[in-house]
Amino acid sequence: MSDAAALLRSCALPQLEARILLMHVLGWRRTELITRDREILPQEAVARFEALAARRLNGEPIAQLTAKREFFGLDFDVTPDVLIPRPETELLVELALEAIADTPNPRVLDLGTGTGAIAISIAHARADARMWAVDRSGAALQVARANAARLLDKNTVTFIESDWTANIDPSLAFDTIVSNPPYIASDDPHLQQGDLRFEPRGALTDDADGLSAIRAIIETAPFLLAGNRTLWLEHGYDQAAFVRALLTARGFTDVRSVRDLAGIERCSGGRFIARAARLE
Ligand code: GLN
Repeated sequence: MSDAAALLRSCALPQLEARILLMHVLGWRRTELITRDREILPQEAVARFEALAARRLNGEPIAQLTAKREFFGLDFDVTPDVLIPRPETELLVELALEAIADTPNPRVLDLGTGTGAIAISIAHARADARMWAVDRSGAALQVARANAARLLDKNTVTFIESDWTANIDPSLAFDTIVSNPPYIASDDPHLQQGDLRFEPRGALTDDADGLSAIRAIIETAPFLLAGNRTLWLEHGYDQAAFVRALLTARGFTDVRSVRDLAGIERCSGGRFIARAARLE
């Protein structure tokens, strides 16, 4: 027989993680862990907690064990088929919202949507936006569709299975394009550490130098952007100068990088002044 206090005390995990898993199993809020800490817990709940704690000790990400991660104030479903939303990616959402601030009924494309966190957060903040969210993984799109259906009053996101821009109709002429592509180089030791070991490899690395997805997006984005519109990309801590150079070489203007809360240049973007022939 066990109560919450005793169960947490006997758990080998960091207490914060143990509490998150126990709240998940019991469906309790943080305050209930304090006010109900001497209640005898059902044996079945104790067993489920112990099974999750053992998996966590084996390295599985908290977000996969609870099947949830908060991003931009919304609770996203997470499965092993999708990248776990990261707090630094909220910067990309802010930059997209800034880019469309003065555009009524903006059209926004999110490339490599995963959980749908970026596209759905933008749609949630801008009810008048029309979103297109792309992933080449059908399993990821299932997760993203379910998140959109649950989190949005009016589902304004169109999901498309596509390898980057391959299946996107250029006549859509987007007001901004955003992407958090796989940007970790294949030989980066981080891929063998922490949560990344359990996330889909294709969401993390291009299996090359970490820049090939970014190159592909920068190459094709000008064909899909309406005139005088922006592309914003998230990238690795040491890639900002490369990404700016690629944007400039492709003909983007106003190219700049923005730092995340840790002070790292995390997103880079620019504006593409489309050729007249493509503006009508
Ligand atoms: N920011 C993630 C990490 O380093 C990587 C996400 C990505 O490749 N897009 O853990």
